[in-house]
Amino acid sequence: MLDNTKKPHCSFCDSTDVSIYSPFGTAQLVRQYYCNKCRTVFEYVRWQTEAPNCEVKSSK
Ligand SMILES: [Zn+2]
Repeated sequence: MLDNTKKPHCSFCDSTDVSIYSPFGTAQLVRQYYCNKCRTVFEYVRWQTEAPNCEVKSSK
């Protein structure tokens, strides 16, 4: 399930043409992404916390 509104965007050029650089950043909710447009590594904070232990899927 992909949601473009939640897709991380570059904090420098505001581009969404990014690829994940490192799944772990300086903080637990921070991931490092690489912007393909301005070629800059930036950190994106995942505000929506997903608890892996209590993941509820309603899909049948
Ligand atoms: Zn950029």
